[in-house]
Amino acid sequence: MAARLDEKLEPIFQDVLHRNPGEAEFHQAVHEVLETLGPVLVKYPEFAEKKIIQRICEPERQIIFRVPWQDDKGEIHINRAFRVEFNSALGPYKGGMRFHPSVYLGIIKFLGFEQIFKNALTGLPIGGGKGGSDFNPKGRSDDEIMRFCQSLMTELYRHLGEYTDVPAGDIGVGGREIGYLFGQYKRITNRYESGVLTGKGLDWGGSRARTEATGYGTVFFTQEMLKAKGDSLDGKTVVVSGSGNVAIYAIEKAHQLGAKVIACSDSGGIIVDEKGIDLDTVKRIKEVERRRISAYADVHKHARYVEDGNIWTVPCDVALPCATQNELNGSDARTLVENGCIAVAEGANMPTTPEGVQIFQEAKLCYGPGKAANAGGVATSALEMQQNASRDTWSFDYTEKRLEEIMINIHKSCYETAGEFDAPDNYVLGANITGFIKVARAMDAMGLI
Ligand code: GLU
Repeated sequence: MAARLDEKLEPIFQDVLHRNPGEAEFHQAVHEVLETLGPVLVKYPEFAEKKIIQRICEPERQIIFRVPWQDDKGEIHINRAFRVEFNSALGPYKGGMRFHPSVYLGIIKFLGFEQIFKNALTGLPIGGGKGGSDFNPKGRSDDEIMRFCQSLMTELYRHLGEYTDVPAGDIGVGGREIGYLFGQYKRITNRYESGVLTGKGLDWGGSRARTEATGYGTVFFTQEMLKAKGDSLDGKTVVVSGSGNVAIYAIEKAHQLGAKVIACSDSGGIIVDEKGIDLDTVKRIKEVERRRISAYADVHKHARYVEDGNIWTVPCDVALPCATQNELNGSDARTLVENGCIAVAEGANMPTTPEGVQIFQEAKLCYGPGKAANAGGVATSALEMQQNASRDTWSFDYTEKRLEEIMINIHKSCYETAGEFDAPDNYVLGANITGFIKVARAMDAMGLI
């Protein structure tokens, strides 16, 4: 069960429930933030008076549109796409596009809402937004993906711009999709507007280290949490859920910092490799061949594949949920704690259920919520925008160094805010309050908009 809300905040939450029926993930994301904002209203009564929280909970603009496209056989399909432009107090709307059959307005709104605070935490000038479609890219040919992306951009382009709204990738949207989306934007607008999308290819305006950034950033954040306890990742056993872009680069950085990742997964099952996951194999299976993770056990005979297995039953020191929302529930959290896990950092957005979060917090292990721990991806997108605006390209090492500094700063500000508000080590409270205050101050300064 989620914690109770402060009496000033409960009516605001009831209003969100009433105004957004059926959007369970959005309700969950709002509740999780409101749970921590009580003390902020005591310290800053003007935010309550000016209804800043109510305004933040209502997106500035929500776009829903039809995406018709034809498959390779000529059959017509109709998908629905969304772009929720949530908050532009700190900069242009910024956030990824997700292509997954589970996408509906409630998912995009939860992601967009989280993105506001995450982006504020980076300290970079980006507002919060998110988009996506219920399109299922699994098993589709490159041509089908291209036609879908072109059709989607034929509507979406009018809402975008480097100073307006800047999408990027998320689940189901990587370099290939960003290429097709950018090509169509360029064609329709007749503008080579590099800063309109991030996650671009390195030959045409993309930033080095963007692909790696979310996973690397999550591990940098984990390292900082452990450092604050006088510990480090060196020699630790790690479990990473997922095997997509975030998981792959979390595994890579964990290995570079001396840890051993012994398990990863996809929606079909889990791979346990006690010798340490061989990342080249995972990259080939997932990034090149686009196959299921079960193929790993065909190459590495000593590894175990468990169909429909639960990755959180694999004992570890550090758990990195890098797959999707609500993938780690209360009973999983209990299992991790019982097995001696000392740190959890979220590479995915909202992967832990409210009950799971509560269990981690009661157990006093280091728990880094997604909006802090996975902010490295969008932070590096903002660095891509910086390079595009100055028509420059930075080296990998320089960009990675900037990413590391940003993650260290995010950790520091969450840690310090938690201390200031009498909740030492509570990174959920630290992240929510730090992000909220930045956005609230900017909104307040700009008047009633
Ligand atoms: N989808 C990513 C996230 O959840 C990245 C967004 C971006 O780079 O704009 O933060």
